[in-house]
Amino acid sequence: MTKPIDVVIVGGGTAGWMSAAALVGVLKPNICRVRLIESEEIGIVGVGEATLPQIRDFNEAIGVSEPEMMAASNATFKLGIEFRDWGFKGSSYVHPFGKHGEPWGGVAFHQHWARALQAGRPYEIQDFSYPIVACRQNRFEFPASDPEAIESTYSYAYHFDAHLYAKYLRGFAEARGAQRIEGKVVDVALHPERGEVLSVTMQSGEVIAGDLFLDCSGFRALVIGQALGGGFEEWTKWLPCDRAMAVPCARSDDFSPYTRSTAREAGWQWRIPLQHRTGNGYVYSSAFISDEAAAATLMSNLDGAALADPRPLRFTAGRRTASWLKNCVAIGLASGFLEPLESTSIYLIQVAVMNLLRLFPRARVDPVLADEFNRLMDVEYERVRDFLILHYHANTRDDAELWRHCRETEPPDSLQEKIALFTHRGQIEAYKDGLFAPPSWLAVYVGQGLAPRGYERLADSLPFDQVIRSMDALRSRIADRVAAMPDHARFVQGYCPAADAVQPAPALSGA
Ligand SMILES: Cc1cc2nc3c(=O)[nH]c(=O)nc-3n(C[C@H](O)[C@H](O)[C@H](O)COP(=O)(O)OP(=O)(O)OC[C@H]3O[C@@H](n4cnc5c(N)ncnc54)[C@H](O)[C@@H]3O)c2cc1C
Repeated sequence: MTKPIDVVIVGGGTAGWMSAAALVGVLKPNICRVRLIESEEIGIVGVGEATLPQIRDFNEAIGVSEPEMMAASNATFKLGIEFRDWGFKGSSYVHPFGKHGEPWGGVAFHQHWARALQAGRPYEIQDFSYPIVACRQNRFEFPASDPEAIESTYSYAYHFDAHLYAKYLRGFAEARGAQRIEGKVVDVALHPERGEVLSVTMQSGEVIAGDLFLDCSGFRALVIGQALGGGFEEWTKWLPCDRAMAVPCARSDDFSPYTRSTAREAGWQWRIPLQHRTGNGYVYSSAFISDEAAAATLMSNLDGAALADPRPLRFTAGRRTASWLKNCVAIGLASGFLEPLESTSIYLIQVAVMNLLRLFPRARVDPVLADEFNRLMDVEYERVRDFLILHYHANTRDDAELWRHCRETEPPDSLQEKIALFTHRGQIEAYKDGLFAPPSWLAVYVGQGLAPRGYERLADSLPFDQVIRSMDALRSRIADRVAAMPDHARFVQGYCPAADAVQPAPALSGA
């Protein structure tokens, strides 16, 4: 019988504890033993507060209880992201976790919408998205299980306090056998000929040996970068934001079931409502604004009293050329970061962990499995990259240098092809692997101001007046159903109240 693989996880942020929880939650002790090293003194990034619906699959796969996790991490529900001032100043659209409309005559809804548009009937496409209409009214309920019901056409994710989510997963993982080691790693020992990782040395002098090392040390990339010298591919040419200021503020009355992203002069500002506070941050490009000006912009755009000083963060958009190198697998920020615009980092952690579970090795080094892991992660990163670039590139703002720069920078070929297909006749590539599905692309194309010049010929097979009647009826049906949905704040209070949830503070005047 093969002996269990000794896994050493370096780092205990979201990446470290998600990895530990999944390994001990899914793999039996005869397959692996898990030890995790983290340093309280170094701490974690702790700003990953918005997630994607896929996190529910992760939690379910490892056996996390939703209301328990939500209460423990002061979580709220998330139906999508609102983008304000992105395509042009004054614009607003939501990228929802759900579909727009329903197919008729075997043709996607947006093709009928495009046909109506070209016939001089410009419908607001967002009125046909159940989750967007719910977002506008701060309402939430679980999607219906009947696939025929309009109430089943969406999904949801969470906003949570990243420190508390990591703490919750720590409790979960430790209860199932993961062993935590407190302290700082000061050295990594490599095999003199083969170059694989043999052990890490703690500040205390303790040496921790293992078979497989997960580098979850964040931007430091202690093992994959510093010790193994793994390459990093930068994507700053297309994604120029490289800094952020983050600050929490008091919870306000606006308890939205969505993240808000407001475009600003040199980047964008996030707003994430939690049960005990609201998370805020300004993600910006240091080439276009100073840190002081960015902090001032952030602090003057909060909708509650600031609860701390703004915290600066620095990053470079890009990813490791190989996340699995020798016997080290980088997960989380150590493997790359594409800025938080579409809340994709925790998703990328989840995908890496799930891929690792499927490809879990029997031996210390297995290049075939490593190659497959890297191939899968390349696809994921590149899909996310193109989707993010679309937000920056497709803008008509003329009020600030960053936006002109992004519009004028030629996007990667893979994105140019997608844009051409959509603007030509509304077609959206549906790929098997990776984020994002066609409804997401549709929301951002239209939201950023790209309109299809044509539509699928098949759409002409339905009589036009029938299509118009169906559109009017669907719009009314969605509006009526959403009006009966519970209020988001009340839903959270009933389902997963946190012990330290606070009642909303009055909004600041002028905010
Ligand atoms: C501005 C910003 C906003 C973000 N917003 C979102 C979001 O909304 N949604 C989302 O999905 N993601 C978001 N992210 C990304 C998200 O924060 C990270 O993906 C997530 O927190 C995982 O981080 P990590 O665990 O890889 O690293 P970290 O949180 O940095 O954890 C690193 C761990 O390694 C340990 N460590 C480091 N060095 C040593 C050492 N020498 N010895 C021992 N231990 C060590 C640290 O103590 C820590 O435990 C955001 C990131 C940034 C920068």
